[in-house]
Amino acid sequence: MHIGVDLDNTVLDATSAFLHYYNIASGFSLTHEDVNDFYLYRLYGWNETERDVVYHKYGSDIHWNSSPLPMAVEVLQQLFSKHQITIITARPLLFRDVTVEWLKHHKINYHNITLIENKLQECMDSNIDVLIDDGPHYAEEFALMNKPVILFEQPYNLSVTSDSVYRASSWIEVNKHIEYLEAKLID
Ligand SMILES: [Mg+2]
Repeated sequence: MHIGVDLDNTVLDATSAFLHYYNIASGFSLTHEDVNDFYLYRLYGWNETERDVVYHKYGSDIHWNSSPLPMAVEVLQQLFSKHQITIITARPLLFRDVTVEWLKHHKINYHNITLIENKLQECMDSNIDVLIDDGPHYAEEFALMNKPVILFEQPYNLSVTSDSVYRASSWIEVNKHIEYLEAKLID
């Protein structure tokens, strides 16, 4: 199978790093319990322009200092040996180098990497069979096209449900969904 894999809050814990640096920038002290929005910057009352200033200043530190989620590296290693892996992240191109270095540092293998916001179009163009992602808007877009998504569970995506959305709260569950979808594809 050709598997698309998101990074932030799917392979790695982005929330902790964003909270740390956004708290420094704002003087606030938000915690994980405050996070109920995919767009974390909105919790700080920033508009997109204000977010960009802070993100451009701290983005490299945020991305470098994010930790892999439990079992993500191990499961991705297994998947890499059997499947085509494309990393698909909506991070801006500005952070391509730190992203590639981070993946290397954590020994995460992949075949391709794409930094793009329109993940649905990219998955159509590259014939990706399934996307693993935490973004509720991506899950909804994919569901409309009947394309499967493995939705990595986060507090802000709990309300998304659809027949083509496979919810996973760990990488062990991600792996189980991949095995199921693989069997279904061969059928
Ligand atoms: Mg994400």
